[in-house]
Amino acid sequence: MNLYGYTKENLEAYFESIGEKKFKATQVFEWLYQKKITTINEMSNLKKELREKLANEFELNLPSLIKRQVDVDVEKYLFELKDQEHIEAVLMRHDYGLSICVSSEVGCNMGCRFCESGRIKKIRNLETSEMVGQVLAIEKIIQERIDSVVIMGIGEPLDNEKNVMNFIRIINDAKGLQIGARHITLSTCGIVPKIEKLIDFPIQINLAISLHAPNDSLRNQLMPINKAYPIKDIINVVKKYIAKTHRRVTIEYILLRNVNDSISDAKELAKLLRGMNVYVNLIPYNETNHIEFKKSKKEQINAFYDTLKKEHISVTVRREFGSNISAACGQLRSKKEEENN
Ligand code: SAH
Repeated sequence: MNLYGYTKENLEAYFESIGEKKFKATQVFEWLYQKKITTINEMSNLKKELREKLANEFELNLPSLIKRQVDVDVEKYLFELKDQEHIEAVLMRHDYGLSICVSSEVGCNMGCRFCESGRIKKIRNLETSEMVGQVLAIEKIIQERIDSVVIMGIGEPLDNEKNVMNFIRIINDAKGLQIGARHITLSTCGIVPKIEKLIDFPIQINLAISLHAPNDSLRNQLMPINKAYPIKDIINVVKKYIAKTHRRVTIEYILLRNVNDSISDAKELAKLLRGMNVYVNLIPYNETNHIEFKKSKKEQINAFYDTLKKEHISVTVRREFGSNISAACGQLRSKKEEENN
């Protein structure tokens, strides 16, 4: 078993099960996530016999780096996992610190028409350790601390809920990577019952919803998941989430030229979101070779933005990172597959 997949609570239970004191879990966490040792033998405040036992039962595996592309403010990483599957993570340098975008699955089953990741069906969930591993591997390469994490890479995090929640517990733990709840964002295409469960999750992360359309007829065409969980259900669960958590929710909206970027779409979106504690993040579409959608023209993005503003909806336009280095989710991985064919 990979030790990076254990939450502190899991490790406490493990130590108790072998007749050891549970505070050993805290010591192990400090070694793994603060001192960042790479072998169990370095855990010098544990007795030699215990270290040997741990070394027999656990491994410390990080994903291995296959490719790194570096631009001024963005770096893209392609990792290989122990079964030779590939995943991506993206590092972004903001004024306020470093953030990384991690993948949650190998492939994705959601099939959003505009998304590169969805072209490759889900092969498997990522293990908790493989998500923690993306953060640790990048910190190790750059020798800098990562301040925030967005779960917006390949995969639908709420389709791999258990492992994703344990990942959040580990990176947020005061003895773990100490990434504050407000510095962790989970983005979902809108799996309503899982969002409902998130309301009671004790770590109050940021929630982002990939909406991308103001009505069901358009959203059905772009995102097949909408047939299972239509917009009305998403809005209702987001309202409930806000009422219970008092947290502002992000609504993500990719602007696709002549598809969802008209002024009337903006007005319909404003009407849908009226009175809710949300803000809209407009995402200039990152074009890919395989998909016919185009990015909206600059003037259209501005007009959409202005319309929402006039309707008193909080809105920002996402800064574009790394279109030069295929930073849109899934693009590096699918390039690699092409090279292999
Ligand atoms: N499955 C989750 C998280 C992964 S996708 C979700 O749907 O939210 C992360 C975000 O990137 C989503 O908002 C997704 O719609 C968006 N996205 C996908 N392909 C994109 C592209 N080519 N350009 C811009 N954003 C894209």
